Amino acid sequence: MLYLVGTPIGNMGDISSRAVEVLGQVEFIACEDTRVTGILLKNLGIEGKKLISYHEHNKASKGQELISMLKEGCDIAQVSDAGMPAISDPGEDLVALCIEQGVEFTVIPGPVAAITALVMSGLSTRYYHFEGFLPNTGSDRKKRLDKLTEYDETIVLYEAPHRVKKLVSELNALGFGESRVSFCRELTKRYEEVIRLTVDEAQSYFEENEPRGEFVVCLEPMKRKEEVIDEAELEARIRALRDEGMPVKQISSILAEQTGRSKKDMYRLVLSLLK
Ligand code: SAM
Repeated sequence: MLYLVGTPIGNMGDISSRAVEVLGQVEFIACEDTRVTGILLKNLGIEGKKLISYHEHNKASKGQELISMLKEGCDIAQVSDAGMPAISDPGEDLVALCIEQGVEFTVIPGPVAAITALVMSGLSTRYYHFEGFLPNTGSDRKKRLDKLTEYDETIVLYEAPHRVKKLVSELNALGFGESRVSFCRELTKRYEEVIRLTVDEAQSYFEENEPRGEFVVCLEPMKRKEEVIDEAELEARIRALRDEGMPVKQISSILAEQTGRSKKDMYRLVLSLLK
């Protein structure tokens, strides 16, 4: 059986008793960095485990090895250096292999930096998009950044401290200046801090305060400029959408979005025009 075990993102008190129990029971622990996991186990007073290195660069070969061990009946826990395995960390491929090859696995949930930050941010938690790390450079980064402008949900990013300033200027250049943003750093640790401002304000903030520590960035979706549409144009758009066979509710919601009017008002207007 494979157990994907969540571990703390900074505060040792956040390890669950089930995680301790499983780590104590299994014979093998697959981990990103044997030194990091060695320290965790020492802190928990767990001894005599066989640690297997499983990380981004050996996951293809090691994954299959772990699957073979699981098929022979071994109990293995997989952990990352911090937080949940498979969330911007190795684990996803192992889960896919287990499903493909009919190997039983389960998850022992623990803290996730993204979710902790989302709650701390004060931004909408109803809908959110988890972006994780953007590609570091080049056209892949540009593509993902451009995509961010399309989301209507809170966007959650992981970012290394030395790239925070670059990210802020890129977001400003894309037109996120008026969006609220939260920089959640050192979550659950002694110097935990949440900096809440707009992307525009963040530019000068980080000129004066060098980013340090681990960051999760929660970003409000881009504030769209509402179109000013005169009544004749509005009526033409409503009729055009109706001619495409679109239902009244959908027409109302599209035009409410385009004009910034409330959905309720727009619904009434569409109904009165089309009756
Ligand atoms: N698997 C982890 C999880 O469940 O959150 C994420 C691992 S990812 C390799 C590491 C990134 O998560 C860091 O660069 C940072 O963006 C974020 N992170 C992890 N711990 C954090 C913390 N205590 N405070 C703020 N951000 C953190």
